[in-house]
Amino acid sequence: MHKINVAVIGATGMVGQRFIQLLQEHPWFELTAVVGSERSAGRTYGEACHWVIDNDMPATVRDLPVLHSEAALDTPLVFSALPSSVAGPLEERLAAAGHVVCSNASSHRNDPDVPLLIPEVNPEHLGLIEIQRKRRGWSGAIITNPNCTITPLTMALHPLHQAFGVTKVLIVSMQAVSGAGYPGVSAYDALDNVIPLIKGEEPKVESEPLKMLGTLNGSEIQPANCIISAHCNRVPTLEGHLECISIALEHQADLEQVVTVLRTFRGLPQELGLPSAPAQPVLVRDEPDRPQPRRDRAAGDGLATVVGRVRPCPILAYKFVALAHNTIRGAAGGSLLNAELMRAQGII
Ligand code: NAP
Repeated sequence: MHKINVAVIGATGMVGQRFIQLLQEHPWFELTAVVGSERSAGRTYGEACHWVIDNDMPATVRDLPVLHSEAALDTPLVFSALPSSVAGPLEERLAAAGHVVCSNASSHRNDPDVPLLIPEVNPEHLGLIEIQRKRRGWSGAIITNPNCTITPLTMALHPLHQAFGVTKVLIVSMQAVSGAGYPGVSAYDALDNVIPLIKGEEPKVESEPLKMLGTLNGSEIQPANCIISAHCNRVPTLEGHLECISIALEHQADLEQVVTVLRTFRGLPQELGLPSAPAQPVLVRDEPDRPQPRRDRAAGDGLATVVGRVRPCPILAYKFVALAHNTIRGAAGGSLLNAELMRAQGII
C-alpha cells in the first residue's frame, strides 16, 4: 500500500505535537506539511515549535517550513489541531478544495452532516460523508472526533448501551492540564488546586455522546435517548482525564454481566487490524485503586480506555471509574484512527 501524504494544521500546539509524534513511521501516512499561525509561518518547525511532549522532536520534521494557514496544500488528508475560534471556515475551505479533514476542533462536531466519530463506537456514521458532499458540493470532507473528556465516557458507555440500554449518566471529570493546550492554565492557578469550571465543557459532555450513541436513519442521526449530567474539573495532572461515572440501565444486569460486556468489547478497528487500534479498546482493571492517570494513561499505547472500580450504585444502577489519554486517544491518536478507518474503507 503506497503511503498517503498528510498535513497537520495547528502543528505547533499540544495536539499538533502529538500528531507529529504519532505520524513518525506510520505505515500508511507520510507527514509532508505543517501549518501554523502568523506567529510561526515562514519559520522552520524546529524554530517555531516549543516542543513540550516526551521524547525529542523528530529530526525529520525539524527543517520543514511552517506554512501559512491560507497556503494551498497538496495532501489529500489534513489533520486539524486548530482552536475552535479559527477552525470553522478554514476547515470548510480545505474540504471544499478536496481535502479530507480530520478535525479535533468543536466547530463542526454538531453539524448534522458531519460524522462525530469514535471508530469502535459508530463507524456506520461515516455514511454521513456522502450526504455532506452532496449537500455542500464538496469533493473533500470534514470528520470530527469528540472532546477529550467524552472519548473515555462514550467508549465505556457504548458496549453497555448496546447490551442493556443506558438511560441516565452522571459524570464527574478530573481533567489534566494538557487538555487546555499550551501554555494553557497558569501554574499559579493549577498547582495545589482544583478548578471546578472548564468553560463550555459540560454542555459538550452532555450532548456529544448522544450523537455518537445515536442511530444513522437515512440522512440524519437520531440521538440516543439518554440524559447526561456532567461536572467538569481541572486538576493538576499533566495527561490523562479521569472520570467517575454512574449509570442507570433500561434492562436489569448483574455486576458480572456489566464487567464481562466491558471486558469483551471489540470494535471494527480491532476486527480490521487498523495500525493504531489497541488490541482491547476497554481494559477493565480489578485492583481497587485503579485506573490512575500516571500509571494507566499509556495503556494500549495511549489508545485504550481503562475502567476500574465497577460496582453497584445506590442511586443509579452501577458506577465505575474511566480514564483515557487526552492528547492521544482523546485527540491526535483518535483522529489518526478515524483516518485509518476511512483509508481502510476507501473513503481516502
Ligand atoms: P494549542 O496548544 O493552543 O495549539 C493551537 C495550535 O493552533 C497552535 O499550533 C497554533 O499555532 C495554531 N493556531 C492558532 N491560531 C491559528 C490561526 N489563526 N491559523 C493557524 N493556526 C493557528 O491547542 P491544543 O490543545 O493543541 O488544541 C487544538 C485543538 O484540539 C483545539 O480545538 C482543542 O479544543 C482540541 N482538543 C484538544 C485536546 C487536548 O487534550 N489538548 C483534546 C481534544 C481536542 P502557533 O503556535 O503557530 O500560534
